[in-house]
Amino acid sequence: MAAMTGPLAFGLVAAFGVAIGSFLNVCVYRLPRGESIVSPPSRCPSCGQGLRWFDNVPVWSWIRLGGRCRTCRATISPVYPFVEAVTGTLFLLQYWQLGWQPLLGIRLLFVAAMIVLFVIDLQHRILPDVITLPGIVIGLAASMFLEPGWQAALSESPPGEVLWAVGEAYFRVRGEEGMGVGDVKMLAMIGAFLGWQLTLVTLLFASLTGSAVGVGMVMFDRRHMKYQLPLGSFLAAGAVVAAHFGQSLIAWYVGLFS
Ligand SMILES: [Zn+2]
Repeated sequence: MAAMTGPLAFGLVAAFGVAIGSFLNVCVYRLPRGESIVSPPSRCPSCGQGLRWFDNVPVWSWIRLGGRCRTCRATISPVYPFVEAVTGTLFLLQYWQLGWQPLLGIRLLFVAAMIVLFVIDLQHRILPDVITLPGIVIGLAASMFLEPGWQAALSESPPGEVLWAVGEAYFRVRGEEGMGVGDVKMLAMIGAFLGWQLTLVTLLFASLTGSAVGVGMVMFDRRHMKYQLPLGSFLAAGAVVAAHFGQSLIAWYVGLFS
């Protein structure tokens, strides 16, 4: 753990996170469109002009070009630099919490998947199987050897049904169609990586923030009654919060009753 610490390690982790964020943008854009995430190289969605390497520097390129394509001047969504900056920040937080250990690699992978699901659900209201299904398998495999341990990951099933029923009841009361199949697969993935306790924290967070945003939007404009909230985005945010603060929240909650 003392292998590399201090500002240099933090700088490297942040730079790595921002670079991965750049790749996550490719996933966010191409996965819902059924395109390959490996080829062709990045190009402007508007004019198809390929990006030159110096236009491909995360965050900085977007700021320097004023959020526009160099060739056709089409606006480039601020979501791109946002995803890069958020990935860098969340990678830093995970490293700060865990230090160098095998679990760090697994958690970075998990956080990256949550960022992709957050944006795709927000933009398209889908949670692609190509992320959630391998996510369940990888999460279970990792949990055999690392935190939270295989018992917690597998015992996800009985409380998992309870979680699902709570969420289902909650979202039906709101007058929505309830949780979709994609949301359930995503919850299973979160359970596989984090164990059922942190999945409960995730669901609690998603319900609270989801209802706050939903009520806020209706108060702002009644036409938003029909707006379909991206539950997957709230779950993704909740899962990242749970991975980072969940254990201290649980300890605090248990402490209240002992
Ligand atoms: Zn262009």
